[in-house]
Amino acid sequence: DLYGPERRNSRGLDLSAPDVVESLLEQVAVAGNECWCAAASAGGDIVEGSPRALFSPADPDDQTGEVHEADATIAGKALELAAAVAPEWDAQGGVARAACLLRAADLIEAQMPVLMAMVVREGGRTLPDALSEVREAIDFCRYYAHCASEEFEHPIVLPGPTGEQNTLELHGRGVFACISPWNFPLAIFTGQIAAALAAGNAVLAKPARQTALVAGRVVALLHEAGVPRDVLSFLPGSGAEIGRILMADSRLAGVAFTGSTGTARTLQQQLAERGGAIIPLIAETGGQNVMIADSSALIEQLVRDVIQSAFNSAGQRCSALRVLFLQDAIAGRTEQMLSSAMDELRIGDPMHLSTDIGPLIDRSALKGLEPHIARMNKEALRLKRIDPPRNLPGSFSALHVYRIRELAQLDQEVFGPVLHVIHFSANRLDNVIEAVNATGYGLTLGVHSRIESTWARVCERARVGNLYINRNMIGAVVGSQPFGGEGLSGTGPKAGGPRYLHRFATERTRSVNI
Ligand code: GLU
Repeated sequence: DLYGPERRNSRGLDLSAPDVVESLLEQVAVAGNECWCAAASAGGDIVEGSPRALFSPADPDDQTGEVHEADATIAGKALELAAAVAPEWDAQGGVARAACLLRAADLIEAQMPVLMAMVVREGGRTLPDALSEVREAIDFCRYYAHCASEEFEHPIVLPGPTGEQNTLELHGRGVFACISPWNFPLAIFTGQIAAALAAGNAVLAKPARQTALVAGRVVALLHEAGVPRDVLSFLPGSGAEIGRILMADSRLAGVAFTGSTGTARTLQQQLAERGGAIIPLIAETGGQNVMIADSSALIEQLVRDVIQSAFNSAGQRCSALRVLFLQDAIAGRTEQMLSSAMDELRIGDPMHLSTDIGPLIDRSALKGLEPHIARMNKEALRLKRIDPPRNLPGSFSALHVYRIRELAQLDQEVFGPVLHVIHFSANRLDNVIEAVNATGYGLTLGVHSRIESTWARVCERARVGNLYINRNMIGAVVGSQPFGGEGLSGTGPKAGGPRYLHRFATERTRSVNI
């Protein structure tokens, strides 16, 4: 049973068991001294250009490795090979493709410690986050493998008049470009590719520039698992440059993109301007994510969930909480408890298991927050600020909480550890929902209320992709919480959901007069 309780997600590791942790930390420490290398590849051809050095966001002196990036020639070659081989890969059927992905999942699982070390060192993520990410990558491979064998192997037989046989089948579209972000350098990178491959497409994988090393490792594992080299090429490099080359090429049949709303727009524009077929853009973008807490909320639980949702991964998740709406009756107490609970948070080296919050991805991300913080310091009431320890060398940000008057004061997504609080009175719930819808974004929304009619009302009216009631609002689980938003938050794909692969596929109806 693909969608029911029979299917199991990866169990990962038990980080509360001392022996497990000890052995993990040993392996992570070894990997932490390695210098990794990744190179662009088109089919079997590997680029040996001038390498670019990469450094850890937690420590600018820690060189994590080097990457040989793709150029126009290699991107063109990759496209040509992919276009030639895509029909063959599609013709193999869902079961054969699933077998490759299942093998890849096992290889990823076997390399868990080193992949975690890469995510931590290269992406600045904490160890628990890195563990979740490896598990998610494994789950994506297995989940889409199952979807492919269930739905892409045999056609559906449809009714017809006597003497006529009607069938409907799913096929890959051709060549897919998969463009992924640095905030989930392993899970989202792997998920997009696994979906596109499972659905019968050849793939050009373009990782975020900051996190090309772990991406390169996954590509190597997918090849080792049996995905032919021509079917999956690896194109690290400048997003603007590689993107422009790929988007302009009429051999491209689809794009899967996770990143900013602005970049999604650019891609859409580039696709519209090229000649040839009209192709799908599967975009998963940002959010202006809100949590609403009414006077019936359990404040201890609320505070814990707010902290996880706003500050986990240093707020660098598109699902992260940005604006907390507190009903007047609980606002004062919640703010006080939030402030005290935040004092317990440890900002620091993500290689340490006790670290709660690691660095931002790079200096420019840190700089990017400054204008917003400066504006908030003028326009809003600062409720809390926690500075990172002084001696940390990397791109660590302070944590901020500001009280603002209304949602309209925020004109864009702030991708970092900045939480905004707005008070509302009991009879204004509908106005709050209206304001949330008016942002145009629609990714995640949290509600803390023990009154069922309250959260049911929010669910009914809010136009968002993922609603979380009385829990945190991050960490969607493959197969259980299909993830993705609407409006400015994306074109509505649900990664880890039963219909995701359809987005990467085309349907063909066959009517035979027998
Ligand atoms: N799926 C992730 C979560 O639920 C967020 C993905 C993203 O940030 O793009 O937290």
